[in-house]
Formats: sequence, structure tokens, C-alpha cells
Amino acid sequence: MTTSPNQKLYEGKAKILYSTGAANILLSVFKDDATAFNAQKRGTIQGKGAMNCTISSHLFRQLESAGIPTHFVGQLSENEMQVKAVTIIPIEVVIRNLAAGSLCKQTGLELGTLIAPPLVEFYYKNDELGDPLLTRDRLLLMKLATPDQVDQLANLALKINKILTDFFEDCGITLVDFKLEFGLDHTQQLILADEISPDTCRLWNQSETDPSRRVMDKDRFRNDLGEIESAYQLVMQRVLAHSI
Ligand code: UDP
Repeated sequence: MTTSPNQKLYEGKAKILYSTGAANILLSVFKDDATAFNAQKRGTIQGKGAMNCTISSHLFRQLESAGIPTHFVGQLSENEMQVKAVTIIPIEVVIRNLAAGSLCKQTGLELGTLIAPPLVEFYYKNDELGDPLLTRDRLLLMKLATPDQVDQLANLALKINKILTDFFEDCGITLVDFKLEFGLDHTQQLILADEISPDTCRLWNQSETDPSRRVMDKDRFRNDLGEIESAYQLVMQRVLAHSI
């Protein structure tokens, strides 16, 4: 189906989706707006849209070349990405290699505790409910996905984690944890969607030992650590300098 171009279809916290006129292809425009704690904290990170779009585009290309199906079509400008249209599955898939964030708060595990094998968790993508942690049974009860799709989500998430952990290791960065979103394309294939950026990953600079200096991700914004733009910029420089 061909739609008329340049129609705003959806505006989220970090991106706006437009129609393109081409069948099953949309334009995702990355914004500088930043939110945290379920949008209770709001701000702007100068140049974030461009940096996240560029980082995500590069990571999607790496994943595609490693055989992971994604919604990435191409980067059109510094903050515009062409993507395949998908129906988003309203589940946030979180993968954890080291304990941080809500896992530490809810379990008492110490920040940085090694999690091996990595943990795969499902959260309900629903701001009104505060994105609650789901069990597999609840997820099936709510019919958010089929049992097959849940297995596929977990398998894909672990594969992506292996690829990205090795990739970031080459960049001198530890991939602590991250969030993925998946969707179904027009052929009903399950593909990786959304973005992979310092907004959605915890990334620690291996050249820094100080716990606040090593943070290269949105925790700098969440925890008022300052120097957010330069941290994102360093992630972008290192990511662009590496390929798998
Ligand atoms: N995350 C995300 N969007 C969300 C929730 C989490 O991108 O709505 C990412 C977050 O940046 C981190 C990982 O998922 O890399 C795990 O987040 P956690 O559950 O620890 O929640 P947080 O501490 O961020 O509230």
C-alpha cells in the first residue's frame, strides 16, 4: 500500500515517525528531547538526535551483516532514518550483562555484579502502568505475544547481545545492559526495531575506573552527572571507527 508522504504518524519521546509515500517504508526523525523516570524528568541534549541516529544506523548495519533482521533501511541525514513499517510488539526486552539500574534497586545486587549467563527480561511497554516487569506467563495471559514469539524474542535478544557485547568490547566499552523493541513487518516476520543508542544502553568506558566518569549513556542525564553531549559524542566516534 502506498501512502501520501510527510504525514506525521506518531510522535514518541525521542522520535517522530512520518509516512514516505513508498510502500511499507517510514521516516524516523530522532529528536534532542530527553526524558527519564517515566517522563517525570525532561530536558534537551544538544545534538542527541543526530548522534543517536548515527550510532543506531551503524549498529543496525553491523547487526544486519551478522544476520539479524532489522527495520533499518538507510540513514537519510544526520537525524533521519528510513525504516521498514512494523507493528511494534508492546514489550521492552532488556538484556543484562552486569547489574545496574532497576535490577540493583529491586534485588539489592551490587552495581556491576557480573550476570552470567546474561539475563533476558520482558517489560510491558505502557507508560500509564509505568512499564512493569512481566513474567512469561503474564505476557502470554495478556496475549502480547505467542509462545513461539516469546522464544524468538529471547533467542534474538541473546544473539544480538553476543554481537553487540563483542563489538563494544572492541570499542573499549562495556555493554552493561540495554533495551530492545521488536515488531512484525508486512510479511509478519519478527524484526528488530526502534533504536540502539546511549539512550537505550548502559555503556561504561573501559578507560575510566571512576564510577561516575565511566558512564557514557543516559545515566549521565538521569543522575545529573553533566558532560552528556561529550559522552554521547565519544560513543559515536568509537562506534563509527569499528565494524564487525
Ligand atoms: N531502558 C530503556 N527504556 C526504558 C527502560 C529501560 O531504554 O523505558 C534501558 C535502560 O537505558 C537500560 C536498560 O534498559 O540500559 C535497563 O534499564 P532498567 O530496567 O535498569 O531501568 P532504569 O534503571 O533505566 O529505570
